[in-house]
Amino acid sequence: MIKIQSLVHQYPNVPALRFPDWEIKDREQWLLLGSSGSGKSTLLNIIAGLLKPKGGNVIVDGTSVYDLSLKAMDQFRGQKIGIIFQRPHFIKSLNIYDNIAVASSFAGLPVDGKRILMLLDNLGLAGKAKSYAEELSQGQLQRASIARALINRPSVLIADEPTSSLDDENAENVISLLTTQAASSDASLIVATHDKRVRNRLSKEYLL
Ligand code: ADP
Repeated sequence: MIKIQSLVHQYPNVPALRFPDWEIKDREQWLLLGSSGSGKSTLLNIIAGLLKPKGGNVIVDGTSVYDLSLKAMDQFRGQKIGIIFQRPHFIKSLNIYDNIAVASSFAGLPVDGKRILMLLDNLGLAGKAKSYAEELSQGQLQRASIARALINRPSVLIADEPTSSLDDENAENVISLLTTQAASSDASLIVATHDKRVRNRLSKEYLL
């Protein structure tokens, strides 16, 4: 379960961003909605342990994230939180399999080769384990980034504007994959978007 309480963030020279309290129970699927500039990315980064808020708490499975040391937070993030960015980034010199494997190593976990291949298979990338990022299309890379985000069985899968650069058909596919893959990995799901096509696709909404 994730709780955010009394969260406030302050960038220099702009008004403070205040976030309503939010409780995300295990396996719940949420849309994070708000117009551009409303603070969606800021909130996701705070929940993911990437941006320390000015005030308030983020509690993931009973642990107050910003009370951890930096090193403990890195491991905690790697184990508990799967992140999918709008444009996926992969290490160019490693193939897709190894890119996913390093996500486990960075989190201090053993590499589970069977799970890597199973996730790639589920995401329609069965033959791509040995390919390099430059050999995959944007849509395939987006799916590979979902596999990477899920490899460590995170408590929560976070996707920031995952559909904004996709056409209708691919946007639909990515949302279906996120919801079904989060469910089959027992992860909660948060999808931040201002994409109208995605509305009504998840059962719960948090509005900024
Ligand atoms: P969204 O993801 O909803 O578009 P953001 O979280 O990116 O919103 O931004 C929220 C507000 O914070 C915006 O007004 C933006 O200009 C401001 N902001 C975001 N990042 C920074 C930054 N690094 N420095 C200063 N202001 C920022």
